[in-house]
Amino acid sequence: MEYNCAEIVLAQKKYFATGRTKNVQYRKMLLKKLLKEVQKRENDICDALYADFKKPKFEAVMTETGIITSELRFTIRKLKSWAKAKRVFPSLLNFPSKDRIHSEPFGTTLIIAPWNYPYQLALSPLIGAVAAGNTVVLKPSELTPNTATVLEEIITEVFEKDHVTVVKGGVPVSQKLLAERWDYIFFTGSVHVGKIVAKAAAPNLTPVTLELGGKNPCIVDIHTDFELAAKRIVWGKFLNAGQTCIAPDYLIVQAQAKFDFTKALIEEIHKTFGENPQESPDFARIVSEKNFDRLASMIKEDEVLVGGSTDKDNLYIAPTVLDEPAFDSEAMKDEIFGPILPIQVYSSLEDISNIIERYEKPLALYVFSKDNKFANRMITSYSFGGGAINDTIMHFGNHRLPFGGVGESGMGAYHGKLSFDTFSHKKSVIKKANWLDIPVRYAPYKGKMKFLNFFLKYF
Ligand code: NAD
Repeated sequence: MEYNCAEIVLAQKKYFATGRTKNVQYRKMLLKKLLKEVQKRENDICDALYADFKKPKFEAVMTETGIITSELRFTIRKLKSWAKAKRVFPSLLNFPSKDRIHSEPFGTTLIIAPWNYPYQLALSPLIGAVAAGNTVVLKPSELTPNTATVLEEIITEVFEKDHVTVVKGGVPVSQKLLAERWDYIFFTGSVHVGKIVAKAAAPNLTPVTLELGGKNPCIVDIHTDFELAAKRIVWGKFLNAGQTCIAPDYLIVQAQAKFDFTKALIEEIHKTFGENPQESPDFARIVSEKNFDRLASMIKEDEVLVGGSTDKDNLYIAPTVLDEPAFDSEAMKDEIFGPILPIQVYSSLEDISNIIERYEKPLALYVFSKDNKFANRMITSYSFGGGAINDTIMHFGNHRLPFGGVGESGMGAYHGKLSFDTFSHKKSVIKKANWLDIPVRYAPYKGKMKFLNFFLKYF
């Protein structure tokens, strides 16, 4: 389908100018309508996710539809209080005044979504954008066309098209959209494309949120419960066949723990997916041939500790653990984004630093240890988007925690109230009383310096 992007943006700007989206009740009504519609379409969404890359239904509900219904319920419940102007303690320099922060929608927003959680990562920012009173153009990923179609049907059913609309297509469509002037751009995807988005936003100084990726380390200390750690790591790594931006990318295991921990890891993989994971109903496929080839090239037979088999016709790559691949190998160069887990080892804190600091700031970092001092040291020594001690992924599940990257893994954060805040300009307004007007600030200034210094010192 040919889209006239300029016309779509113009229509949305006109819709925004009507002021309808400024009405909080109207936003709430639409979010409720959206909640009803996504609940009604849950099976269709799960079927589409399965058709796109065999996402298991349980994972689809846990990591896609469940997150969206929970985010919608939370937003609907809290929206009135979030949207209210917040009174803050006034500055005595302004006495007497009433000081407030008003949340104002930016206007016309663009959301570009990736394919790995194609439903959830499209709708989650959209909820924030609508809750904050913006119009939205949503561009889902072209690599998950079935999900994109269901998304389009849901959005068309719930919203007027000049308020929220879906524009489907690949890179050319995305670039046409980026060439328009937006009031906010929210992008989720790769670091490479994140930089293209930032460049496209720069000429108009359009604010952006960039939710990107990185090479997420997972440190396993000797003082840990190997079985439990293996269970949580196998779950977090092989969920969605490893195509999760916050999946542990590689392990850094204490050298003396390597043998026992690897044994636990391999046992856990067998327990989870059986002797032949290709037959497991609980393991997704790789999204495209291009990604399959990229991942398959990382597997070197002599490094495989478990897994290693591939089937291109079915875009299947077994859950695979690699033994200390070289740092200049394909597996250790960039983000893996697939079911391949390299193990590296450390003997000292310096070894850990030498590994982690080879890479840009990651989106997530995980540490498994019963030694609180060690765990806290890991958490505070490195900069990363977010993470967990003794678990993986689960920090994503709390909508009271900001979700976002730092450095090359992104800028800005969202979820829960922060999604509302991300899509709102915070407008500060003071209302001065007229019954008193302290004269110090007015010229002529002669003889007033001591009063000024007094105020600056104490207020
Ligand atoms: P991608 O960057 O290739 O594509 C994301 C979106 O950008 C798609 O809608 C695509 O059509 C569009 N796009 C692609 N190339 C473009 C270009 N040259 N110009 C304009 N638009 C373009 O990413 P992906 O493959 O869909 O997703 C995988 C990446 O996303 C991984 O790096 C992963 O870590 C990251 N990711 C991050 C998060 C997060 O929340 N931080 C979540 C999921 C995925």
